[in-house]
Amino acid sequence: MLLFTPGPTPVPESVRLAMAEPTLHHRTTEFEAIFKETRELLFKLFATDEVLMLASTGTGAMEAAVTNLCHDTLLYVNAGKFGERFGKIAVAHRLKTVSIKQEWDTPATAEEIVSALKANPSVDAIAIQISESAGGLRHPVEEIAKAAKEINPDIMIIADGITAVGVESIDVRDIDCLIAGSQKALMLPPGLSILGLSSVAIEKIGEGRGYYLNLATEIKKQRQNTTAYTAATTLVIGLLEVLRQFDIFGLENLYHDTARRAKATRLALEAIGLHSYPKTPARSMTTIDDAQASEIRSIIKDKLGVNVAGGQDHLKGKIFRINQMGFIEPYESVWVVNAIELALAKLGRRVYDGTASRTYNEEYFSHILEQTK
Ligand SMILES: *Cc1c(COP(=O)(O)O)cnc(C)c1O
Repeated sequence: MLLFTPGPTPVPESVRLAMAEPTLHHRTTEFEAIFKETRELLFKLFATDEVLMLASTGTGAMEAAVTNLCHDTLLYVNAGKFGERFGKIAVAHRLKTVSIKQEWDTPATAEEIVSALKANPSVDAIAIQISESAGGLRHPVEEIAKAAKEINPDIMIIADGITAVGVESIDVRDIDCLIAGSQKALMLPPGLSILGLSSVAIEKIGEGRGYYLNLATEIKKQRQNTTAYTAATTLVIGLLEVLRQFDIFGLENLYHDTARRAKATRLALEAIGLHSYPKTPARSMTTIDDAQASEIRSIIKDKLGVNVAGGQDHLKGKIFRINQMGFIEPYESVWVVNAIELALAKLGRRVYDGTASRTYNEEYFSHILEQTK
């Protein structure tokens, strides 16, 4: 079965093998050396002033970001399940909230953020997804962050990059906290989250808030290549292997390859009459809205060995989402679009003629076709 869900994503063999080594104790020079190298490679990936690894899923890092960086009112963008979650976290911690609610295919705009800030001067942090995984939507976070900082440079910008870090280059100039999670673009099992912080964010954190998710405690420890509580040793070892692979492949190559794959997939599916759901698609996944989304998913899973994700809440049965994160071989992606074309033929919607795989190949390998002209 090909796992093509936008999280969890497949774990490469070299990473699985690295994690199969005998258990290490976390308070040893051996593990500290692993932690140190992992931190160094994370600095390259995040390009932020500080990086922290937490033993939690992505939601733990979202909670840590909100509690440590928002002390009054959180402005959050709710254009999907994950945006909505920022609001729930703030409410659970008795913070005040202001929300910008959008349909799941519609990105927030800098203008909307600016007018919300002007109307709500108590807002001291903004939380938004870079790639909102509920609908495969890309928000213009860099533009929003810049506009917000022009109004108030003390506002903290919390960017959930759980399906964006490792997918594309992110301009972190105006971002104070960039969040990643292990089981998406980092190709690891779930259970590790990472926060990249700006120096302004570190200042605001001060003594930190909370206990387990107190970021001041973690900053102090992690600068010494250790953690406040037991490190998620196996996942850190796996992460080091992933980051080494990123380094060998080259981050620019990874971003470029992911972008080409996402574009080729979208064009292949549009060529067989399907519709791309989000108005501004993220590169992390390809999201198709279709009245027969459930039927298509069932056929490709049961008959063709391809597992893609469906939708949640009001989009349940109405969309399907194809992962683009991590290292993916082109022949796997070609099989995915081909399987979808076969499903449409089986549903009587079009005659099978190989259009999807041909379009994918033409787009993805266009540079090779150019060369042979
Ligand atoms: C998966 C995901 C999360 C939540 O992560 P968990 O690991 O399930 O806690 C948050 N934000 C986005 C954008 C995601 O895709």
